[in-house]
Amino acid sequence: MKKRSWISIVFSFASQCKGKIILSVICALVSVASGLIPYWSVYHIITSFINGSATIPNVWVWGLIAVCGYTFRYIFHGISTSLSHASAYSILENIRLALAKRLMRAPLGTVVEESVGKLKSVIVDRVETIELPLAHMIPEGISNLCLPIAVFIYLISIDWRMALAMLITVPIASVAYFSMMKNFNKQYADYMESSNYVNGVIVEYVEGIEVIKAFNQSSTSYEKFSKAVKSFKDYTLNWYKSVWKLMNFGNSVLPSTFLGTLPVGMILYATGTLSPENMVMCFILSMGIVDPLMNYTLHVSNVKAVEYAIHDVDKLLHVTELPDSKNSLSIENHNIELKNVSFAYSKNKDNKVLSNITFSVPEDSFTALVGPSGSGKSTIARLIARFWDVDEGSISIGGIDIRQIPISQLSDIISFVTQDNFLFHCSIKENIRMGKPSATDEEVYAAAKAACCDDFIQKLEHGYDTQAGDAGNRLSGGEKQRISIARMILKNAPIVILDEATAFADQENEEKMQRSISALTKGKILFVIAHRLSTITNANQIIVLKNGEIHSVGTHKLLLDSDSLYRNMWEAHIGARNWSANSKQEVESICSEL
Ligand code: ADP
Repeated sequence: MKKRSWISIVFSFASQCKGKIILSVICALVSVASGLIPYWSVYHIITSFINGSATIPNVWVWGLIAVCGYTFRYIFHGISTSLSHASAYSILENIRLALAKRLMRAPLGTVVEESVGKLKSVIVDRVETIELPLAHMIPEGISNLCLPIAVFIYLISIDWRMALAMLITVPIASVAYFSMMKNFNKQYADYMESSNYVNGVIVEYVEGIEVIKAFNQSSTSYEKFSKAVKSFKDYTLNWYKSVWKLMNFGNSVLPSTFLGTLPVGMILYATGTLSPENMVMCFILSMGIVDPLMNYTLHVSNVKAVEYAIHDVDKLLHVTELPDSKNSLSIENHNIELKNVSFAYSKNKDNKVLSNITFSVPEDSFTALVGPSGSGKSTIARLIARFWDVDEGSISIGGIDIRQIPISQLSDIISFVTQDNFLFHCSIKENIRMGKPSATDEEVYAAAKAACCDDFIQKLEHGYDTQAGDAGNRLSGGEKQRISIARMILKNAPIVILDEATAFADQENEEKMQRSISALTKGKILFVIAHRLSTITNANQIIVLKNGEIHSVGTHKLLLDSDSLYRNMWEAHIGARNWSANSKQEVESICSEL
């Protein structure tokens, strides 16, 4: 994609509230022009004294006009900033919503590969920076630019030499600004990198605090954290030190219009080529543009921050999406079919995680996927849910390639309980209700009972209204898992994918959960990635994966007889189960003897 200039991106954002922003610019222009009225009045009072026509009522009238001008300036400034802020914040809201939608439609990899710190900083901080151009730079920038131009043209009509004299500070200040900006791009890019790094380290430190404590790594991790923060501070301070002199010089010189108008005006007056009235007028007008120029200098140092923020936000707004179709399709059945599917996570597509996978899952059946860790089981489940698109081959549901099915329709027909049982920071009841937002409380309770979580929820302080905590951190792994299953049960989708969904449960609970899952998924497709092989012995088909390829397919009995890999896995599982049951008994008997 061709990189657009940040200014054109700002204007494309601003077009969402075009009317309000134009009105805000007009009010800003009126405000700046009204700000000149007091100078105009002072000019009239001074010239009336110079030519001897001054009278008290006359001075009062001009004084009153000055007060009106001053009042108008602030009234219109108020209207302008209210309008520009109202539009800016509704545009920022739209940008944040658009970012969230875009991330939802992007392949999962794009989202999970970014650091949380960076994403947070783009969605919160960078978007906030866009308030500057929308609420300030556009209305104030345009009006503060128009005014000096108008004054300059007017001064040319009085005396072109005075007009040029007024601008003498512009090249002097520009030299300072240009030398300040010489390495600015590089320095700002380093600054942003350093800021992203600090953000990432902070998020990692906070999120990993449990592991840090468990492994007594607090001093090492703190050191990494404090080093990152310190180097960011050193970098920013050094950068500030290297530019503050030039920046202050430019900021102080640019608005000092008297540097040019005073000596030139005096010379012209002394040589008799400028009347005293015109000289006063030129002085006063050049004083009148000090404020607008000062306003400009305020924004100079922000331009780069705004440019970076806009490019970062624009990049995330245009992150590649999974192609989606708009119109819902009528899907006659939900048979799943994978044909010659190959897939790699990395950009280097030679690093295949799955190769040439072909199998089908008929309706009203229970299919289990087993295989050594890392063999690609979860990847298959994720591809069926279209978290990523396949690189080669196709996956279809009811004979329709899932890439043709709108993503929202696909997520309606699939319930996916992943290994990562994420819960939102809201009540347990609302977490379950996410499966079906229109569900009544009774339906939520029934789903919870079926997922064997009613008992422990009832024991919590506020029952179903207990807050789950950030990412469900107030609950144990097993409890989170059961709540995710309740969510899945409530959703009641025709395809149910469980990715090691009962792995955390103890044996007794797991059997109970399995029974209720089988009862509730009657007539549906149940696709299970199994951790404990004893839970899938009654599966209609078991697919054994090895190194991203299908090793064998069959029923439990058939595979036990014909596949040594499956038999070994089964024996290892049974061995582990007996071992854990025996060792439990042994521990219990030792305890009772004690
Ligand atoms: P299984 O579920 O059988 O344990 P996975 O499907 O999770 O296996 O993983 C298969 C392979 O893909 C592994 O080598 C794993 O390291 C890799 N992998 C899994 N997820 C990602 C990811 N998001 N990005 C890159 N590689 C991944």
